Amino acid sequence: MATVLCVLFPDPETGYPPQYARNSIPTIGAYPNGQTVPSPREPLGFKPGQLVGCVSGELGLRPYLEANGHRLVVVSDKDGANSAFDRHLPEADVVISQPFWPAYLTAERLAKAKNLRLALTAGIGSDHVDLSAAARHGVTVAEVTFSNSISVAEHVVMTVLSLVRNFLPAHDTADAGGWNIAECVSRSYDLEGMHFGTIGAGRIGQAVLRRLKPFDVYLHYHQRHRLPGQVERELGLTFHANPQSLVQVCDVVNLQVPLYPSTEHLFDDAMFSLMKRGSYLINTARGKLCDRDAVVRALQNGTLAGYGGDVWFPQPAPADHPWRTMPHQGMTPHISGASLSGQARYAAGTLEILQNFFEGKPIRSEYLIVDGGSLAGAGAASYGLT
Ligand code: NDP
Repeated sequence: MATVLCVLFPDPETGYPPQYARNSIPTIGAYPNGQTVPSPREPLGFKPGQLVGCVSGELGLRPYLEANGHRLVVVSDKDGANSAFDRHLPEADVVISQPFWPAYLTAERLAKAKNLRLALTAGIGSDHVDLSAAARHGVTVAEVTFSNSISVAEHVVMTVLSLVRNFLPAHDTADAGGWNIAECVSRSYDLEGMHFGTIGAGRIGQAVLRRLKPFDVYLHYHQRHRLPGQVERELGLTFHANPQSLVQVCDVVNLQVPLYPSTEHLFDDAMFSLMKRGSYLINTARGKLCDRDAVVRALQNGTLAGYGGDVWFPQPAPADHPWRTMPHQGMTPHISGASLSGQARYAAGTLEILQNFFEGKPIRSEYLIVDGGSLAGAGAASYGLT
């Protein structure tokens, strides 16, 4: 019998929804690169479209785990001394958490987790786990690659348009009963003709480029490995050998690289000093890719005309986090990959990974981040340990 410790975000304050806005979600058979969607062998313990990422939803895992003799412990209290997560960690064989409500598996916590064999991210992005320490302790780290990539790409496109068009302040005006057109439009531009660049053109970054192409923008990208020439030609992409080169020519910059030691604070005062006055920066990758206070300064001094995204550090962000109140921001809590559509796929992928793990079958390599003491699979392709 294994103990599975699942750290989930709290239920809605108004209670678990008695019904949903829509009766169903579309069925997606495969992702754009041909990868198949999660295919657990046993039935899902939920109906796709239900809220499963919160405590009462339990990612729909209880029927499978209990039928197979395992123990499921679900907690939400995850931070600070003596949290419920810390109390249960020593007995956990498997820890599951979502990037939206990350259970930070630091080196200290990993040292206390003597039974831990699998740290499973229900979603994408495993930077809340100290990957070097996980490798040293022989803990496998896996995530549900591609499960919510399109969910995030849609959020990026929405944020680009919201910032450039000044949508959020105009909506606030309507909401408040106002009609001052001049005030609404004095920061509103068309995206058409602008230069858009993404730093990181992997699953999400490429999906964003594809979705923005019909807006008649100039498209740029930077990452360590160049995309195939056919993709560059199809999308009309300009490649930049470093991020500094990209930010100097782009009006809108999107961050879509994983967080690991050498990408932390990629955007600091030095990087902002290279950007065009009035640029927009979108970050749905990870909060720590940016120096928190440098972002605020860039908005205050006009380098940035807008900053938007859904990722913060730490999470949940404290009430006095300056990104909540800085000017010209389009921030949300970490939600872009947690749409009900995304939840259905990452919960199904979590079940698939658990089944393979408990049955001693290989976990798909596209789901692996750390395995056998080093980066593996998708982790070896996209992360670094330094
Ligand atoms: P991918 O691994 O498909 O893409 C990441 C890209 O980043 C790769 O193509 C990689 O290319 C590039 N990259 C890695 N390191 C560097 C570097 N040092 N400099 C420049 N480029 C780099 O990941 P996804 O697109 O699926 O996801 C990206 C990130 O988005 C995730 O790691 C996660 O943090 C975040 N995310 C956020 C979600 C949300 O809800 N907000 C949900 C899902 C993901 P190369 O190796 O050639 O450099």
